[in-house]
Amino acid sequence: MTTRRFEPIDSGVTPRFAGHATFMRLPVVVNPREVDVAIAGVPWDGGTTNRPGPRHGPRQVREMSSLIKRVHSVTKISPYELCRVADVGDAPVNPIDLDRSLESIRAFFAQIVAAGAVPLSVGGDHLCSLPILRAVAAKGPVGMIHFDAHSDTVDTYFGGLKYTHGTPFRRAVEEKLLDPKRVVQIGIRGSTYSADERGWALAQGMRIITIEELEDLGVDAVIREARRVAGEGPTYISFDIDALDPAVAPGTGTPEFAGITSREALRLLRGLRHLNLVGADVVEVSPPFDPSGGTALAGANIAFELLCLLAESFAARKA
Ligand code: MN
Ligand code: MN
Repeated sequence: MTTRRFEPIDSGVTPRFAGHATFMRLPVVVNPREVDVAIAGVPWDGGTTNRPGPRHGPRQVREMSSLIKRVHSVTKISPYELCRVADVGDAPVNPIDLDRSLESIRAFFAQIVAAGAVPLSVGGDHLCSLPILRAVAAKGPVGMIHFDAHSDTVDTYFGGLKYTHGTPFRRAVEEKLLDPKRVVQIGIRGSTYSADERGWALAQGMRIITIEELEDLGVDAVIREARRVAGEGPTYISFDIDALDPAVAPGTGTPEFAGITSREALRLLRGLRHLNLVGADVVEVSPPFDPSGGTALAGANIAFELLCLLAESFAARKA
């Protein structure tokens, strides 16, 4: 097995606006056995129920990630020194075949997991998290720290359809991919279809921290609560960009007013170091609704925070 590490292209040689757009300006490495943290795109939004477009998310996040430098501003770690990180390309998808796409996305991530690598994916709509969890949690349920305006635990849409971006975590609990007692959802808000829309999730034992509770408790208490719920077992982080306030992240399918601020998001993520992380994703960046590029910039920065968390966690397991 190679121990070759990968570095972003040196911006002192090739300026940030030049060269191929890859995640974090890393090389593309198609063999997951050569990487420890595999950054992958999932250019698919076949589960979208309202405004479409996150199929274009991976390309735009790759583009905006060219602005991100090697070293984390607060922790001073460089993920590229901790382990082997590369852009492994996009999962194969079919834009008009939901069933086939769910299976091809699962198979792509199963191959990453089988290689011993940890996936960091950039979607795609939130239904993409379901086939990724089918790969990551194939051997048993995982916990999840989930940032979102929505619980995504509705049963069905449009006359009994079970696979949409509003249902992935209901399916994941039913399939025993998630241990609901180790799931915490942060930033939940907005009007709902019914008064007890979140009742099923709560009945399973999920911890829902609404935006109102986040404001009341404060960021540090929410971090403690998220860490308590996730515990020491294998944990996945899923970040729906609509968790952020639409003032900073308007480019998404189902924006909800009055969300998490950029600074709160960074503080929350930085409070999640040294968990036992087995994967992460950032989803629902929709470039057609993002004329400024600011939503993709948010997605790229959140992906870098997630990368640093995954790299530290991976390195700690190998130490
Ligand atoms: Mn979501
Ligand atoms: Mn959402």
